[in-house]
Amino acid sequence: MIFEQLFDKRSSTYTYFVASAEGREALIIDPVLENIEDYIKLLNKLDLKLVKVIDTHIHADHVTGASKLKDKTQCATIMGEHTPTDAVEIKVKDEEIIKLDQLKIKALYTPGHTSDSFSFLMDNYLFSGDTLLINGTGRTDFQNGNSKDAYNSLFNRILKLPDETLLYPAHDYKGETVSTIGKERKLNPRLQVSNVEEYIEIMNNLNLKKPAEIDFNVASNIKLGALS
Ligand code: FE
Repeated sequence: MIFEQLFDKRSSTYTYFVASAEGREALIIDPVLENIEDYIKLLNKLDLKLVKVIDTHIHADHVTGASKLKDKTQCATIMGEHTPTDAVEIKVKDEEIIKLDQLKIKALYTPGHTSDSFSFLMDNYLFSGDTLLINGTGRTDFQNGNSKDAYNSLFNRILKLPDETLLYPAHDYKGETVSTIGKERKLNPRLQVSNVEEYIEIMNNLNLKKPAEIDFNVASNIKLGALS
């Protein structure tokens, strides 16, 4: 398996390359529009053919590169079935398996940060989108976010995964690159609650600023980034 983690400084977004060493098929998770040329260069350098691109959810803080990657490589675009966009080619269901040569990636419906949020599990690699972050969790105050759903996705789904599962989130703002489910269960301050009410209370009192350009980003992402 080939694995690469790329970082977009402007939006603090992580983009992931997963590829099969044998068949040279590649998948990109959460591409950022401005970095498309870098992705194409990396695909060429590694001698990979991009066949699939996934967005974990409709992002508010950057524009997805999915549509542009499709134009350039004819890859298939994938999102979870609850996404509000009609531009995506394949909408996967909870527990559905996405194949990449012999690699298998399982889609997990994990709403809360947004109502369309999915996470993706490949062996012990969890691509959690904004559902679970390192030392944090995705905010729930826009795009049909819901703290109760987030609690359920975290405690009844993500945290049921084995301790050694590697956590690769869609963002990090402090330079962390990877964690594990076991470490987050123990140390993540948002997860040290004893019930759903406590979690909702924390999420209701974050007082976060609205992301810059959220309206433009969401409108673009509903078209998979094809607006810009
Ligand atoms: Fe997000």
